[in-house]
Amino acid sequence: MLENVTEYQGKATMEKITSLAKRRGFVFQSSEIYGGQSGAWDYGPLGIELKNRIAQNWWKEMTQIHDAIVGLDAAVLMHPRVWEASGHVENFTDPLVDCKQCKARFRADQIPEANLSVKKCPECGGELTDTRKFNLMFKTHIGAVEDASNTIYLRPETAQGIYVNYKNIIQSNRMKIPFGIAQIGKAFRNEIVTKNFIFRTCEFEQMEMQYFVKPGTDEEWFNEWKRRRWAYYEKIGVKMEHLRWHQHGPHELAHYAKDAYDIEYLFPMGWKELEGIHNRSCYDLTRHTEYSGKDLQYIDQDNHNERFIPYIIETSAGLTRTLLMVLCDAYDEEKVADKGNDDDWRRVLRFHPNLAPITVAVLPLMKKDGLAELAVAIRNELKEDFATDYDQSGAIGRRYRRQDEAGTPFCVTVDYESKENSTVTLRFRDSMEQVRVSRGALAERIRSEIKGYTRPA
Ligand code: ATP
Repeated sequence: MLENVTEYQGKATMEKITSLAKRRGFVFQSSEIYGGQSGAWDYGPLGIELKNRIAQNWWKEMTQIHDAIVGLDAAVLMHPRVWEASGHVENFTDPLVDCKQCKARFRADQIPEANLSVKKCPECGGELTDTRKFNLMFKTHIGAVEDASNTIYLRPETAQGIYVNYKNIIQSNRMKIPFGIAQIGKAFRNEIVTKNFIFRTCEFEQMEMQYFVKPGTDEEWFNEWKRRRWAYYEKIGVKMEHLRWHQHGPHELAHYAKDAYDIEYLFPMGWKELEGIHNRSCYDLTRHTEYSGKDLQYIDQDNHNERFIPYIIETSAGLTRTLLMVLCDAYDEEKVADKGNDDDWRRVLRFHPNLAPITVAVLPLMKKDGLAELAVAIRNELKEDFATDYDQSGAIGRRYRRQDEAGTPFCVTVDYESKENSTVTLRFRDSMEQVRVSRGALAERIRSEIKGYTRPA
Protein backbone atom coordinates (compact mmCIF):
# COMPACT_ATOMS: atom_id res chain seq x y z
CA MET A 1 0.00 0.00 0.00
CA LEU A 2 1.30 3.46 -0.82
CA GLU A 3 1.90 5.44 2.31
CA ASN A 4 1.69 8.95 1.02
CA VAL A 5 0.37 11.03 -1.79
CA THR A 6 3.68 12.18 -3.21
CA GLU A 7 4.39 8.79 -4.76
CA TYR A 8 1.23 9.27 -6.75
CA GLN A 9 1.94 12.76 -7.99
CA GLY A 10 3.58 13.31 -11.34
CA LYS A 11 1.00 10.85 -12.58
CA ALA A 12 -2.56 12.00 -12.08
CA THR A 13 -3.23 15.38 -10.49
CA MET A 14 -6.66 16.93 -10.11
CA GLU A 15 -5.61 19.69 -12.51
CA LYS A 16 -4.64 17.18 -15.19
CA ILE A 17 -7.79 15.14 -14.69
CA THR A 18 -10.08 18.18 -14.72
CA SER A 19 -8.50 19.61 -17.83
CA LEU A 20 -8.49 16.29 -19.71
CA ALA A 21 -12.11 15.74 -18.69
CA LYS A 22 -13.11 19.05 -20.19
CA ARG A 23 -10.92 18.88 -23.28
CA ARG A 24 -12.13 15.42 -24.27
CA GLY A 25 -15.77 15.91 -23.32
CA PHE A 26 -16.01 13.80 -20.20
CA VAL A 27 -17.20 16.47 -17.76
CA PHE A 28 -18.09 20.14 -18.15
CA GLN A 29 -18.84 22.74 -15.52
CA SER A 30 -22.59 23.24 -15.19
CA SER A 31 -23.86 26.47 -16.83
CA GLU A 32 -20.33 27.40 -17.76
CA ILE A 33 -21.28 30.33 -20.00
CA TYR A 34 -22.88 31.97 -16.95
CA GLY A 35 -19.76 31.53 -14.86
CA GLY A 36 -20.60 28.03 -13.67
CA GLN A 37 -22.86 26.62 -10.96
CA SER A 38 -20.89 25.29 -8.03
CA GLY A 39 -21.70 21.77 -6.90
CA ALA A 40 -23.08 20.72 -10.29
CA TRP A 41 -21.41 19.22 -13.36
CA ASP A 42 -22.50 18.08 -16.81
CA TYR A 43 -21.38 14.85 -18.42
CA GLY A 44 -20.34 15.20 -22.06
CA PRO A 45 -20.32 12.58 -24.81
CA LEU A 46 -17.48 10.47 -23.39
CA GLY A 47 -18.54 11.15 -19.79
CA ILE A 48 -22.08 9.87 -20.19
CA GLU A 49 -20.79 6.73 -21.93
CA LEU A 50 -18.35 6.12 -19.08
CA LYS A 51 -20.99 6.83 -16.45
CA ASN A 52 -23.49 4.52 -18.14
CA ARG A 53 -20.86 1.80 -18.44
CA ILE A 54 -19.96 2.03 -14.74
CA ALA A 55 -23.63 1.95 -13.81
CA GLN A 56 -24.34 -1.05 -16.08
CA ASN A 57 -21.32 -2.88 -14.76
CA TRP A 58 -22.38 -2.32 -11.15
CA TRP A 59 -25.95 -3.30 -12.00
CA LYS A 60 -24.82 -6.53 -13.61
CA GLU A 61 -22.59 -7.32 -10.65
CA MET A 62 -25.30 -6.64 -8.09
CA THR A 63 -28.38 -8.09 -9.82
CA GLN A 64 -27.43 -10.49 -12.61
CA ILE A 65 -24.47 -12.14 -10.90
CA HIS A 66 -25.82 -12.19 -7.35
CA ASP A 67 -28.81 -14.34 -6.66
CA ALA A 68 -31.73 -12.85 -4.81
CA ILE A 69 -31.08 -9.19 -5.58
CA VAL A 70 -33.71 -7.30 -7.55
CA GLY A 71 -33.81 -3.74 -8.82
CA LEU A 72 -35.87 -0.67 -8.10
CA ASP A 73 -36.17 2.87 -9.41
CA ALA A 74 -37.94 4.99 -6.82
CA ALA A 75 -38.91 8.65 -7.18
CA VAL A 76 -36.64 11.45 -6.01
CA LEU A 77 -39.61 13.15 -4.33
CA MET A 78 -40.92 11.21 -1.35
CA HIS A 79 -43.47 11.82 1.38
CA PRO A 80 -41.87 14.28 3.84
CA ARG A 81 -42.60 11.95 6.76
CA VAL A 82 -40.03 9.56 5.27
CA TRP A 83 -37.28 12.00 6.22
CA GLU A 84 -38.65 12.45 9.72
CA ALA A 85 -38.73 8.70 10.19
CA SER A 86 -35.27 8.22 8.73
CA GLY A 87 -33.82 10.79 11.13
CA HIS A 88 -32.63 13.10 8.35
CA VAL A 89 -34.76 16.09 9.39
CA GLU A 90 -33.23 15.97 12.84
CA ASN A 91 -29.76 14.54 12.27
CA PHE A 92 -28.58 14.99 8.70
CA THR A 93 -26.47 17.99 9.54
CA ASP A 94 -22.91 19.14 9.17
CA PRO A 95 -21.23 21.55 11.57
CA LEU A 96 -20.69 24.89 9.85
CA VAL A 97 -18.40 27.81 10.65
CA ASP A 98 -17.78 31.06 8.77
CA CYS A 99 -14.86 33.43 8.83
CA LYS A 100 -16.09 36.91 9.78
CA GLN A 101 -13.19 38.49 7.93
CA CYS A 102 -12.66 36.67 4.60
CA LYS A 103 -16.17 35.13 4.57
CA ALA A 104 -14.78 31.67 3.80
CA ARG A 105 -17.10 28.86 4.90
CA PHE A 106 -15.90 25.57 6.39
CA ARG A 107 -17.15 22.28 7.67
CA ALA A 108 -16.01 22.44 11.28
CA ASP A 109 -15.00 18.76 11.23
CA GLN A 110 -12.68 19.42 8.30
CA ILE A 111 -10.50 22.17 9.75
CA PRO A 112 -7.71 21.65 12.29
CA GLU A 113 -8.85 21.39 15.90
CA ALA A 114 -6.30 24.07 16.82
CA ASN A 115 -8.09 26.61 14.59
CA LEU A 116 -11.47 25.65 15.95
CA SER A 117 -10.52 25.95 19.59
CA VAL A 118 -9.19 29.49 19.19
CA LYS A 119 -11.78 30.37 16.50
CA LYS A 120 -9.11 31.37 14.02
CA CYS A 121 -9.67 31.07 10.25
CA PRO A 122 -7.24 28.55 8.69
CA GLU A 123 -7.04 30.70 5.56
CA CYS A 124 -6.70 34.31 6.73
CA GLY A 125 -6.36 34.10 10.50
CA GLY A 126 -9.60 36.09 10.98
CA GLU A 127 -12.21 35.32 13.64
CA LEU A 128 -14.53 32.37 13.14
CA THR A 129 -18.22 32.30 14.06
CA ASP A 130 -19.60 29.76 16.54
CA THR A 131 -20.21 26.33 15.06
CA ARG A 132 -23.82 25.80 14.02
CA LYS A 133 -25.67 22.82 12.63
CA PHE A 134 -26.64 22.96 9.00
CA ASN A 135 -29.12 20.50 7.49
CA LEU A 136 -27.92 19.17 4.16
CA MET A 137 -31.32 18.41 2.68
CA PHE A 138 -32.58 20.58 -0.18
CA LYS A 139 -36.06 21.77 0.67
CA THR A 140 -38.65 22.98 -1.78
CA HIS A 141 -42.44 23.19 -2.06
CA ILE A 142 -44.87 21.06 -3.96
CA GLY A 143 -48.03 22.64 -5.33
CA ALA A 144 -48.92 26.29 -5.80
CA VAL A 145 -48.60 27.56 -2.23
CA GLU A 146 -45.25 27.97 -0.57
CA ASP A 147 -45.81 27.23 3.09
CA ALA A 148 -44.67 24.71 5.67
CA SER A 149 -47.59 22.37 4.94
CA ASN A 150 -46.27 21.53 1.48
CA THR A 151 -42.55 21.29 2.13
CA ILE A 152 -40.89 18.53 0.16
CA TYR A 153 -37.27 17.39 0.04
CA LEU A 154 -34.98 16.27 -2.73
CA ARG A 155 -33.80 12.88 -1.47
CA PRO A 156 -30.33 12.98 0.09
CA GLU A 157 -29.86 9.22 -0.39
CA THR A 158 -31.55 6.59 -2.52
CA ALA A 159 -31.79 4.08 0.35
CA GLN A 160 -35.11 5.29 1.78
CA GLY A 161 -36.88 4.61 -1.52
CA ILE A 162 -35.85 1.00 -1.05
CA TYR A 163 -37.03 0.71 2.56
CA VAL A 164 -40.50 2.09 1.87
CA ASN A 165 -40.89 -0.41 -0.99
CA TYR A 166 -39.54 -3.45 0.78
CA LYS A 167 -42.98 -4.93 1.54
CA ASN A 168 -44.16 -4.30 -2.05
CA ILE A 169 -41.18 -6.16 -3.38
CA ILE A 170 -41.55 -9.12 -1.02
CA GLN A 171 -45.17 -9.44 -2.08
CA SER A 172 -44.81 -8.85 -5.81
CA ASN A 173 -41.65 -10.88 -6.29
CA ARG A 174 -42.02 -13.47 -3.53
CA MET A 175 -38.61 -12.62 -2.09
CA LYS A 176 -37.34 -14.60 0.87
CA ILE A 177 -34.78 -13.42 3.37
CA PRO A 178 -31.87 -12.98 2.80
CA PHE A 179 -32.47 -10.84 -0.28
CA GLY A 180 -31.39 -7.50 -1.66
CA ILE A 181 -32.75 -4.51 -3.54
CA ALA A 182 -30.45 -2.46 -5.77
CA GLN A 183 -30.98 1.05 -7.02
CA ILE A 184 -29.07 3.67 -8.99
CA GLY A 185 -30.27 7.23 -8.91
CA LYS A 186 -29.79 10.89 -8.18
CA ALA A 187 -29.32 12.21 -4.68
CA PHE A 188 -28.99 15.82 -3.55
CA ARG A 189 -27.08 17.33 -0.65
CA ASN A 190 -26.61 20.99 0.10
CA GLU A 191 -22.91 20.46 0.79
CA ILE A 192 -21.15 23.26 2.65
CA VAL A 193 -17.94 22.90 0.70
CA THR A 194 -17.88 21.45 -2.80
CA LYS A 195 -14.42 21.06 -4.18
CA ASN A 196 -12.14 18.58 -5.89
CA PHE A 197 -14.07 18.55 -9.15
CA ILE A 198 -16.85 15.92 -9.08
CA PHE A 199 -15.71 14.34 -5.80
CA ARG A 200 -18.26 16.16 -3.64
CA THR A 201 -21.17 17.80 -5.40
CA CYS A 202 -24.67 18.94 -4.48
CA GLU A 203 -26.27 16.80 -7.18
CA PHE A 204 -24.80 13.34 -7.63
CA GLU A 205 -25.72 9.75 -8.27
CA GLN A 206 -25.56 6.80 -5.95
CA MET A 207 -25.44 3.06 -6.54
CA GLU A 208 -26.94 1.48 -3.45
CA MET A 209 -27.88 -2.05 -2.48
CA GLN A 210 -29.79 -2.90 0.66
CA TYR A 211 -29.58 -6.49 1.82
CA PHE A 212 -32.31 -7.69 4.21
CA VAL A 213 -31.18 -10.36 6.65
CA LYS A 214 -32.33 -12.14 9.77
CA PRO A 215 -31.14 -10.48 12.99
CA GLY A 216 -28.22 -12.45 14.36
CA THR A 217 -26.91 -13.21 10.86
CA ASP A 218 -26.16 -9.54 10.20
CA GLU A 219 -22.51 -9.60 11.22
CA GLU A 220 -21.82 -12.55 8.98
CA TRP A 221 -23.54 -10.83 6.02
CA PHE A 222 -21.78 -7.58 6.80
CA ASN A 223 -18.42 -9.34 6.46
CA GLU A 224 -19.58 -11.13 3.34
CA TRP A 225 -20.58 -7.86 1.67
CA LYS A 226 -17.31 -6.27 2.67
CA ARG A 227 -15.55 -9.15 0.95
CA ARG A 228 -17.70 -8.98 -2.18
CA ARG A 229 -17.40 -5.25 -2.65
CA TRP A 230 -13.61 -5.36 -2.24
CA ALA A 231 -13.42 -8.18 -4.80
CA TYR A 232 -15.53 -6.13 -7.19
CA TYR A 233 -12.90 -3.40 -7.47
CA GLU A 234 -10.31 -6.01 -8.27
CA LYS A 235 -12.57 -7.35 -10.99
CA ILE A 236 -12.85 -3.96 -12.71
CA GLY A 237 -9.08 -3.60 -12.70
CA VAL A 238 -8.61 -0.93 -10.02
CA LYS A 239 -5.07 -0.59 -8.61
CA MET A 240 -5.65 -2.48 -5.38
CA GLU A 241 -2.76 -0.74 -3.59
CA HIS A 242 -4.82 2.45 -3.97
CA LEU A 243 -7.66 1.02 -1.90
CA ARG A 244 -7.90 0.61 1.86
CA TRP A 245 -10.46 0.07 4.58
CA HIS A 246 -11.47 2.66 7.12
CA GLN A 247 -13.68 1.61 10.02
CA HIS A 248 -15.90 4.31 11.51
CA GLY A 249 -15.02 5.06 15.11
CA PRO A 250 -17.83 5.65 17.66
CA HIS A 251 -17.90 9.41 16.98
CA GLU A 252 -18.17 8.90 13.20
CA LEU A 253 -20.96 6.33 13.16
CA ALA A 254 -24.18 7.62 11.60
CA HIS A 255 -27.28 7.66 13.79
CA TYR A 256 -28.57 4.46 12.16
CA ALA A 257 -25.39 2.41 12.05
CA LYS A 258 -24.29 -0.54 14.16
CA ASP A 259 -21.01 -0.87 12.28
CA ALA A 260 -19.59 0.87 9.22
CA TYR A 261 -16.56 0.59 6.99
CA ASP A 262 -15.55 2.80 4.11
CA ILE A 263 -13.55 1.67 1.15
CA GLU A 264 -11.17 4.55 0.60
CA TYR A 265 -9.28 5.32 -2.58
CA LEU A 266 -6.01 7.19 -2.89
CA PHE A 267 -7.22 10.11 -5.02
CA PRO A 268 -4.62 12.69 -6.11
CA MET A 269 -5.74 14.82 -3.14
CA GLY A 270 -5.35 11.95 -0.67
CA TRP A 271 -7.23 8.99 0.78
CA LYS A 272 -10.98 9.61 0.52
CA GLU A 273 -14.17 7.62 0.88
CA LEU A 274 -15.37 5.85 -2.23
CA GLU A 275 -18.02 3.52 -0.87
CA GLY A 276 -19.61 2.82 2.49
CA ILE A 277 -20.64 -0.60 3.76
CA HIS A 278 -22.99 -0.20 6.69
CA ASN A 279 -24.79 -2.43 9.11
CA ARG A 280 -27.93 -0.27 9.52
CA SER A 281 -29.42 -2.75 12.03
CA CYS A 282 -33.24 -2.69 12.21
CA TYR A 283 -33.21 1.08 12.64
CA ASP A 284 -34.83 2.14 9.36
CA LEU A 285 -37.62 -0.41 9.21
CA THR A 286 -38.40 0.05 12.91
CA ARG A 287 -38.70 3.79 12.43
CA HIS A 288 -40.85 3.43 9.29
CA THR A 289 -43.11 1.04 11.21
CA GLU A 290 -43.49 3.66 13.90
CA TYR A 291 -44.05 6.62 11.60
CA SER A 292 -46.25 4.96 8.97
CA GLY A 293 -48.22 2.74 11.33
CA LYS A 294 -47.71 -0.16 8.90
CA ASP A 295 -46.45 -3.51 10.05
CA LEU A 296 -43.10 -3.99 8.33
CA GLN A 297 -42.20 -7.27 9.98
CA TYR A 298 -41.04 -10.11 7.79
CA ILE A 299 -43.04 -13.32 8.13
CA ASP A 300 -40.81 -16.33 7.76
CA GLN A 301 -43.04 -18.95 6.16
CA ASP A 302 -40.24 -21.49 6.23
CA ASN A 303 -39.95 -21.20 10.00
CA HIS A 304 -43.44 -21.42 11.58
CA ASN A 305 -44.34 -17.89 10.46
CA GLU A 306 -41.76 -16.37 12.73
CA ARG A 307 -41.98 -12.56 12.61
CA PHE A 308 -39.11 -10.13 12.83
CA ILE A 309 -37.86 -6.78 11.55
CA PRO A 310 -34.96 -7.57 9.24
CA TYR A 311 -31.53 -6.08 9.70
CA ILE A 312 -30.13 -4.23 6.71
CA ILE A 313 -26.64 -4.39 5.30
CA GLU A 314 -26.07 -1.51 2.91
CA THR A 315 -23.46 -1.05 0.23
CA SER A 316 -23.48 2.58 -0.86
CA ALA A 317 -21.21 3.89 -3.59
CA GLY A 318 -21.28 7.18 -5.43
CA LEU A 319 -21.62 6.68 -9.17
CA THR A 320 -20.17 10.07 -10.04
CA ARG A 321 -17.46 9.63 -7.40
CA THR A 322 -16.65 6.21 -8.84
CA LEU A 323 -16.32 7.87 -12.24
CA LEU A 324 -13.73 10.24 -10.79
CA MET A 325 -11.94 7.28 -9.23
CA VAL A 326 -11.97 5.39 -12.53
CA LEU A 327 -10.56 8.44 -14.35
CA CYS A 328 -7.78 8.91 -11.78
CA ASP A 329 -7.02 5.22 -11.66
CA ALA A 330 -6.86 4.88 -15.44
CA TYR A 331 -4.73 7.97 -16.00
CA ASP A 332 -1.19 7.30 -17.14
CA GLU A 333 1.58 9.14 -18.91
CA GLU A 334 4.06 6.98 -20.73
CA LYS A 335 7.32 7.79 -22.47
CA VAL A 336 7.20 6.12 -25.87
CA ALA A 337 10.02 7.80 -27.81
CA ASP A 338 13.20 9.80 -27.29
CA LYS A 339 13.09 12.64 -29.77
CA GLY A 340 13.17 15.36 -27.17
CA ASN A 341 9.73 16.80 -27.92
CA ASP A 342 6.12 16.50 -26.71
CA ASP A 343 5.49 13.52 -28.97
CA ASP A 344 7.76 11.42 -26.77
CA TRP A 345 4.95 11.10 -24.27
CA ARG A 346 1.57 9.64 -24.63
CA ARG A 347 -1.33 10.22 -22.29
CA VAL A 348 -3.40 7.10 -21.90
CA LEU A 349 -6.51 6.19 -19.94
CA ARG A 350 -6.21 2.52 -19.11
CA PHE A 351 -9.89 1.84 -18.56
CA HIS A 352 -11.02 -1.73 -18.23
CA PRO A 353 -12.53 -2.50 -21.66
CA ASN A 354 -15.89 -3.12 -19.98
CA LEU A 355 -15.89 0.48 -18.77
CA ALA A 356 -14.24 2.32 -21.67
CA PRO A 357 -16.58 4.84 -23.37
CA ILE A 358 -15.44 3.66 -26.81
CA THR A 359 -14.46 0.01 -27.18
CA VAL A 360 -13.20 -0.04 -30.76
CA ALA A 361 -12.09 2.76 -33.08
CA VAL A 362 -11.85 2.02 -36.78
CA LEU A 363 -9.22 4.01 -38.66
CA PRO A 364 -8.48 3.90 -42.39
CA LEU A 365 -4.77 4.37 -43.02
CA MET A 366 -5.65 6.74 -45.88
CA LYS A 367 -8.92 8.33 -46.93
CA LYS A 368 -8.32 7.52 -50.58
CA ASP A 369 -8.26 4.36 -52.71
CA GLY A 370 -11.39 2.96 -51.14
CA LEU A 371 -9.84 2.53 -47.68
CA ALA A 372 -12.32 4.93 -46.03
CA GLU A 373 -15.29 3.07 -47.53
CA LEU A 374 -13.90 -0.28 -46.41
CA ALA A 375 -13.28 1.07 -42.89
CA VAL A 376 -16.83 2.43 -42.68
CA ALA A 377 -18.17 -0.98 -43.72
CA ILE A 378 -16.08 -2.71 -41.03
CA ARG A 379 -17.23 -0.22 -38.43
CA ASN A 380 -20.83 -0.95 -39.38
CA GLU A 381 -20.21 -4.66 -38.81
CA LEU A 382 -18.91 -3.95 -35.31
CA LYS A 383 -21.57 -1.44 -34.30
CA GLU A 384 -24.18 -3.92 -33.09
CA ASP A 385 -21.76 -5.48 -30.62
CA PHE A 386 -19.45 -2.68 -29.52
CA ALA A 387 -19.34 1.05 -28.84
CA THR A 388 -17.36 2.21 -31.87
CA ASP A 389 -15.75 5.34 -33.21
CA TYR A 390 -14.47 6.25 -36.63
CA ASP A 391 -11.65 8.67 -37.35
CA GLN A 392 -10.02 9.38 -40.68
CA SER A 393 -8.39 12.75 -40.05
CA GLY A 394 -4.71 13.31 -39.44
CA ALA A 395 -1.64 11.11 -39.27
CA ILE A 396 -2.31 7.60 -37.98
CA GLY A 397 0.04 8.10 -35.01
CA ARG A 398 -1.93 11.14 -33.88
CA ARG A 399 -5.17 9.26 -34.25
CA TYR A 400 -3.82 6.48 -32.00
CA ARG A 401 -2.87 9.10 -29.42
CA ARG A 402 -6.35 10.60 -29.52
CA GLN A 403 -7.87 7.18 -28.88
CA ASP A 404 -5.32 6.46 -26.12
CA GLU A 405 -6.39 9.65 -24.40
CA ALA A 406 -10.05 8.66 -24.67
CA GLY A 407 -9.17 5.27 -23.21
CA THR A 408 -10.20 3.24 -26.28
CA PRO A 409 -8.73 -0.23 -25.72
CA PHE A 410 -8.76 -1.40 -29.37
CA CYS A 411 -8.03 0.30 -32.67
CA VAL A 412 -8.67 -1.38 -35.98
CA THR A 413 -6.60 -0.05 -38.86
CA VAL A 414 -7.63 -0.63 -42.43
CA ASP A 415 -4.77 -0.52 -44.95
CA TYR A 416 -3.95 -1.62 -48.49
CA GLU A 417 -3.45 -5.20 -47.44
CA SER A 418 -6.98 -5.17 -46.06
CA LYS A 419 -8.27 -4.67 -49.59
CA GLU A 420 -6.30 -7.59 -50.89
CA ASN A 421 -6.76 -10.28 -48.27
CA SER A 422 -9.54 -9.04 -46.00
CA THR A 423 -7.36 -8.68 -42.91
CA VAL A 424 -6.98 -5.65 -40.61
CA THR A 425 -4.58 -4.53 -37.93
CA LEU A 426 -5.80 -4.77 -34.37
CA ARG A 427 -3.87 -2.41 -32.08
CA PHE A 428 -3.91 -2.73 -28.29
CA ARG A 429 -3.98 0.47 -26.28
CA ASP A 430 -1.92 -0.74 -23.34
CA SER A 431 0.96 -2.47 -25.10
CA MET A 432 0.63 -0.61 -28.44
CA GLU A 433 1.18 -4.02 -30.05
CA GLN A 434 -0.45 -4.74 -33.35
CA VAL A 435 -1.64 -8.04 -34.74
CA ARG A 436 -3.13 -8.99 -38.07
CA VAL A 437 -6.65 -10.40 -37.81
CA SER A 438 -9.03 -11.52 -40.52
CA ARG A 439 -12.10 -9.35 -40.89
CA GLY A 440 -14.42 -12.29 -40.26
CA ALA A 441 -12.73 -13.15 -36.95
CA LEU A 442 -12.44 -9.58 -35.67
CA ALA A 443 -15.52 -9.33 -33.46
CA GLU A 444 -14.83 -12.66 -31.80
CA ARG A 445 -11.21 -11.72 -31.17
CA ILE A 446 -12.20 -8.43 -29.55
CA ARG A 447 -14.74 -10.22 -27.38
CA SER A 448 -12.14 -12.69 -26.18
CA GLU A 449 -9.60 -9.92 -25.53
CA ILE A 450 -12.20 -8.14 -23.37
CA LYS A 451 -12.94 -11.28 -21.42
CA GLY A 452 -9.30 -12.05 -20.77
CA TYR A 453 -8.23 -8.46 -20.10
CA THR A 454 -5.74 -7.79 -17.35
CA ARG A 455 -4.25 -4.45 -16.62
CA PRO A 456 -0.50 -4.11 -17.28
CA ALA A 457 1.54 -4.00 -14.08
P1 ATP B 1 -19.20 12.49 3.80
O1 ATP B 1 -19.05 12.15 5.25
O2 ATP B 1 -17.90 12.50 3.03
O3 ATP B 1 -20.03 13.70 3.54
P2 ATP B 1 -21.01 10.33 3.77
O4 ATP B 1 -20.25 9.41 4.67
O5 ATP B 1 -22.13 11.12 4.29
O6 ATP B 1 -19.98 11.30 3.07
P3 ATP B 1 -22.64 8.41 2.56
O7 ATP B 1 -23.89 9.03 3.08
O8 ATP B 1 -22.15 7.17 3.19
O9 ATP B 1 -21.48 9.51 2.53
O10 ATP B 1 -22.83 8.22 0.99
C1 ATP B 1 -22.48 7.05 0.32
C2 ATP B 1 -21.64 7.35 -0.90
O11 ATP B 1 -22.27 8.34 -1.70
C3 ATP B 1 -20.27 7.93 -0.56
O12 ATP B 1 -19.35 6.89 -0.32
C4 ATP B 1 -19.93 8.68 -1.83
O13 ATP B 1 -19.37 7.80 -2.80
C5 ATP B 1 -21.28 9.16 -2.32
N1 ATP B 1 -21.50 10.56 -1.95
C6 ATP B 1 -21.95 11.03 -0.76
N2 ATP B 1 -22.03 12.36 -0.78
C7 ATP B 1 -21.61 12.77 -2.01
C8 ATP B 1 -21.48 14.03 -2.65
N3 ATP B 1 -21.81 15.16 -2.04
N4 ATP B 1 -21.01 14.04 -3.92
C9 ATP B 1 -20.70 12.91 -4.56
N5 ATP B 1 -20.81 11.69 -4.02
C10 ATP B 1 -21.27 11.61 -2.76
